[in-house]
Amino acid sequence: MSGDHALEWLRREGRIVIVGASLAGLRAAETLRKEGFAGSLTLIGDEPHEPYDRPPLSKQVLLGHASADHTELPRRRGLDAQWRLGVAATGLDMAARRVRLADGDEVEYDRLLITTGVRARPWPHPAEAELDGVFVLRTRDDAARLHRRLAASPRRVLVIGAGFTGSEIASACRERGLPVTVAERGAAPLVGALGGVIGQVAAELQRAHGVDLRCGIMVTGLEGDSAGRLRRAHLSDGTTLDTDVAVVSLGATRNTEWLAGSGVGAGPRGIACDAGCRAFDIRGIVTDDIFVAGDVARSPHAIFGYQFLSLEHWGNAVAQAETAAHNMISSSSERRPHLWVPAFWSSQFGVNIKSVGVPSLGEEVIVAQGSLADHRFTGVYGYQGRVIAAVSFDQTKWLEFYQRQIETAAPFPPEYSSVDRRPEGLRPVPADFPDPSLPTHGPSVTVSGYSPTDQRITFTPARA
Ligand SMILES: Cc1cc2nc3c(=O)[nH]c(=O)nc-3n(C[C@H](O)[C@H](O)[C@H](O)COP(=O)(O)OP(=O)(O)OC[C@H]3O[C@@H](n4cnc5c(N)ncnc54)[C@H](O)[C@@H]3O)c2cc1C
Repeated sequence: MSGDHALEWLRREGRIVIVGASLAGLRAAETLRKEGFAGSLTLIGDEPHEPYDRPPLSKQVLLGHASADHTELPRRRGLDAQWRLGVAATGLDMAARRVRLADGDEVEYDRLLITTGVRARPWPHPAEAELDGVFVLRTRDDAARLHRRLAASPRRVLVIGAGFTGSEIASACRERGLPVTVAERGAAPLVGALGGVIGQVAAELQRAHGVDLRCGIMVTGLEGDSAGRLRRAHLSDGTTLDTDVAVVSLGATRNTEWLAGSGVGAGPRGIACDAGCRAFDIRGIVTDDIFVAGDVARSPHAIFGYQFLSLEHWGNAVAQAETAAHNMISSSSERRPHLWVPAFWSSQFGVNIKSVGVPSLGEEVIVAQGSLADHRFTGVYGYQGRVIAAVSFDQTKWLEFYQRQIETAAPFPPEYSSVDRRPEGLRPVPADFPDPSLPTHGPSVTVSGYSPTDQRITFTPARA
């Protein structure tokens, strides 16, 4: 069969299998149908539930404003797919194009999309993790369990780790009137994502809302009573804390173990793929029939020096799934790159936090609008003399502007004057990331065009 005929056949009666039935998997399935894929479509998911939305789990659900079992993602009608829910994929035979399932079944594919996401990193001591009162938060069932426990008015909640999820949990607990201690190994909350300057604002917010925030502190042990209920936490400064609930918020682990030995280039950092979402095999060569999208994917991003980025962002999962689905049923000349500019939102302690770009690449930050002291500002990050990211606290309206600045490699510090720049924003200061990455000096790439079909990239070689 010629290439054109093979593609025509695939679109008409091929078999597409998606492993991971959540946000990215569902959006990819919908895009496949929208773009005319008429063959058989199978979605495999290890959770028993229909695809649901995770962001409300640490916000509305913990506050009791929404129930965990009413978080289903809206679904396009007429998807005409076979759903295999509550059964995990346990292996992949690349040569035979077959996925093995935990129930012994095997499913054959012509194209495979992997959207298996991440799971919460568990507390490292298994016996302590088993104590009644120790929680993680990733799934709808986790959220329902934690909500029930919070509603029973525990004496104190200990949140271990002050990244976005941990900070949102602490915020929800305070809104419920619960005493909360947050233990964070770094110098401030959100420091890994936004750096020390903005992290200090996050620390002020937490303390202003009554959080007992302890930075530079690690939880070294969790202690239970004879009935196996959590009673106490031991901290690295030698103190102990009486608590009956601990929420472990130590980041995520990528769901790639099921691919061990398959030949797909999958590991603890995710599944590497090209910008067109095709997975690499273990030799580092792209496969033709296996694609990746969402939190489990790691792909090179042209405007960020072609670094391989893993993004645990809702918007990235949607955009990458749409690109992967399009490319799965397109000829090579019609394929397009995943050029989404990272964007993230969070709401905590009454503040709406949004970011665009990759703040953690920033060497310096400048407060371009507003003021850190007011907790209402836009911070702009610079990397090698160009704008690389921006974050706003209760100032969302500026972010679209900064997205264009990032896409066009606008110079940093910003050269324009702005309506609300205060004296503190006149000069950039070090962004103060705890472990600054040192990417190699790369070429400059800019993006033009708005819709995926007319987006173009311009490549300017690195200066000598
Ligand atoms: C509490 C919480 C709050 C969040 N808040 C925000 C926010 O405010 N803003 C934001 O931008 N993002 C937020 N996110 C992140 C966002 O929800 C994720 O980026 C998004 O869910 C990624 O979708 P995904 O489909 O790639 O992966 P996932 O949603 O992780 O889905 C992967 C699915 O694959 C399943 N799976 C794994 N292994 C297998 C296997 N072997 N076989 C079959 N199925 C398998 C998993 O169980 C899961 O159902 C939040 C996440 C959480 C947990």
